[in-house]
Parts: sequence; C-alpha cells; structure tokens
Amino acid sequence: MKLFATEADITWLKLDSKVFKGETIAKFNDDVLPKLHASYEADEAENAIVRICKNKYCDCTTEDCDNYGRDIVCPKSCAKKAAGCQNQLFEQYRKQKTKCFLVKSSGKKGIGLFAARTIKKNEFIIPYHGEIISKSELQIRKEKYRANGETHTYPFKAGRFCIDPTEYGNSARFGNHSCDPNMHAKSYVVSDRKRGFKAIGFVANKNIRKGTELTIDYGYDYNPETSQRCLCRKRNCKGWIGQPPPAAIDRNDGQNRQTGSKAVTKKIALGSKLMSDCRYVLNKILADLQKAEKTKAGGASTTGNEGAEENLQDAVLE
Ligand SMILES: [Zn+2]
Ligand SMILES: [Zn+2]
Ligand SMILES: [Zn+2]
Repeated sequence: MKLFATEADITWLKLDSKVFKGETIAKFNDDVLPKLHASYEADEAENAIVRICKNKYCDCTTEDCDNYGRDIVCPKSCAKKAAGCQNQLFEQYRKQKTKCFLVKSSGKKGIGLFAARTIKKNEFIIPYHGEIISKSELQIRKEKYRANGETHTYPFKAGRFCIDPTEYGNSARFGNHSCDPNMHAKSYVVSDRKRGFKAIGFVANKNIRKGTELTIDYGYDYNPETSQRCLCRKRNCKGWIGQPPPAAIDRNDGQNRQTGSKAVTKKIALGSKLMSDCRYVLNKILADLQKAEKTKAGGASTTGNEGAEENLQDAVLE
C-alpha cells in the first residue's frame, strides 16, 4: 500500500518552495487505510459484527434501512442483495477514481482541502484515517508532542478510541478550521472493528461550489498554551480556532480583530501550521522512499516511522 510517495507528490516536493507563495500544489494519493496501533490491538473488546440489511429490496440509502438510518455502514456482503447496497461508504470512497476534493495551498492557513467539483449537501467527502490508538496511548503521545513543541497535530475522538494522523494519515488531516464550516464529522459503526470504535468521515453540511475551501469546526476548548487565532474570515468568526479565552468573551472581544500584537501572534501561528504541514508531507515521502529502498534491498518492510520527529496537539477534535 502506498502512502504519499507518488509521482505527483514528488512533483509537489519539488514545488514546495512555491507553497509558501500560496500557489496550487499537486493532488495527493489518498489510498490510505487505517493503521491499527498495538494499544488498539491490545484492547480486549470483541470486534463488532454488523449484520446485512434484512430488506432485500432496500438499497440502504434511506432512513428506513436497518443500518443506514442508524449511521451503521453495511458489510460488503450486503451488496449481494437483490437491490444491492449503497451504504458502503469507506469502500466506495476507496474505489472512486477521482476524489471530489483537491489538496492545495490555502495561503496563510497552510495546506487545505478544496472542492474539485460541485459537492451536494450530505455527500460523503473523505474518511478521517490515521493510526487507531487507545485513549491512554493518546495521553502518552500528547506529552511527547508537547515536549517537542508541536501544536499542529489533529487526533480525533473515534468512540472509545482515537484516530491519530500525526505520523500516518490521509488528506483529511489538511482540512482547515472555520467558524462557519461546510463539512461536519460524522461517526459510523463499521464491521470488524473493536466494539466501541467509530469510524469518522467528513460530510458536506451544505451544497458546496467547485473551488471552495472545505472546512470543519475543530471544536477545541480554549487552551492558553495551544489555542490559536482563526483566519476563516467568516462573518461569525470567533477570532479563535475553537473557543475564545474566557477573558475575550467577558470583554466581548471574541471577534476577529487583527490589531497590534494579536495580528503578529496570528501570523506566527499560521506560519508554523504551514511548516507543520510541509514537514508532515516531507516525512511521509521520506518514510515511503526508505521503505521502498528496504523492500528493493530484500529487507523486511517495517512501519519505518518510529523515529519520526512528529508531534501532537492538546485538543481533540470531536
Ligand atoms: Zn438497507
Ligand atoms: Zn446495505
Ligand atoms: Zn473563524
């Protein structure tokens, strides 16, 4: 399975200096699957087995469906019914030859996701993939990431577990925050994952025009060490990514006023997001190249990422 080391990514790598000038970058390979961390494997919960929809005339796209209506993704075998099954979101996504989004520079916000075509309300856009880890493993990682001084990492609550795309993930990681987002995160029960795990996908919450940036509300609580100013420029912008500091609310100062040192703080924060995005992509490409070298040399293929100097962030998206 390939991660990011595609021809397009290499081209992007060569163009990386242009990213800093806000220019378009090449599309990513997005054929990435979840990776199960040892802490997930060690969890003693049994796997959830989803049953096929019992109504053979149901194509599993309506609220009446046994599974679809309860945010449960049907197992593959459901497709063998007379009416077929369209509730195979993650499988369907993997089979799409062209995705409905592009990954490119979002100027000061770093790398972002953009609509490659018109996207309809409720359309499934992208799964949120990464390493599936336990909550206790997340605590350990948070400490490590904090010690490394990295604030741009995006662990996501996934039921009883977490998805951490810091060292291994797909393009969903590049979805930027907005106070008026056009996507929301939906959680799904999927077959053959441990009970209590929820798969995450970003879904359009409105009709989206081609070229529009695809955004999500990170929903962070305010944290004096990690909270950053927001650059979404929406009318209802709170001025902060997530909740503003309590003092700002008291002073009715939550609005996005870019004056004096605040503007400077914001500039630094966003510059660092850009660096973080680029470092992430570079690490991915290097890890894949090393893996390819090893395979070529006949050595055993490893995850190859243990030494990556990547980090994690305090807040957890939910
Ligand atoms: Zn059904
Ligand atoms: Zn079905
Ligand atoms: Zn905002």
